[in-house]
Amino acid sequence: MTSPQTLNYRKAQFLTSAPTLAACPEDSGAEVAFAGRSNAGKSSAINTLTNQKSLARTSKTPGRTQLINFFSLDDTYRLVDLPGYGFAKVPEKVKLEWQRHLSDYLQNRSALRGLVLLMDVRHPLTEFDRTMIGWADESELPLQLLLTKADKLKRGAAMNTLQKVKRELAGFSGDVQVQLFSSLQRQGVTELEQRLNELLLGQ
Ligand code: GDP
Repeated sequence: MTSPQTLNYRKAQFLTSAPTLAACPEDSGAEVAFAGRSNAGKSSAINTLTNQKSLARTSKTPGRTQLINFFSLDDTYRLVDLPGYGFAKVPEKVKLEWQRHLSDYLQNRSALRGLVLLMDVRHPLTEFDRTMIGWADESELPLQLLLTKADKLKRGAAMNTLQKVKRELAGFSGDVQVQLFSSLQRQGVTELEQRLNELLLGQ
């Protein structure tokens, strides 16, 4: 079968939710996962990318927030919404459980082609972000860092943060790219689509 040249992210449909790696859909085809602290703008970014007002809201319905949520683009390609981490109110034990499932998924899922990590441009590279980056590094997983809500900063300040984060990641051995993103202004959507095409289609 020949691969399509590009993927239509607007065709994304909710597929299923899974609490653990074992419960995930069949480990075939290719997928890219989205991760970020709660409130980083992950749902908004997925909705902007897929041009669907409430697709990622599915991941926020009570009972689904701690699950790995799968969206299919077609029979082969998927986007994956990982549980938002960093909720202060969650007991330590539950947090550790999530982290275990997340790292299990990131380290052992064969279909996984890359990780999109979303960070608020005003507070990048928190301890949680660094943990995720470390797991991606260990798994040799390509990374796309999105500095979200870029509209909240003036252009110069946003560019400075972009350069600073790039510099901080200079020692990262893997395939990592950093970009500005704003759901509000649809900034960075084409760049993200191109990166996803590259990761999913191997272009
Ligand atoms: P999630 O918890 O990571 O899924 O975050 P949400 O997508 O729900 O966004 C958290 C908050 O940030 C909401 O109040 C959004 O309206 C706001 N937000 C998300 N993206 C943007 C953006 O690009 N610009 C601005 N100004 N606000 C945003």
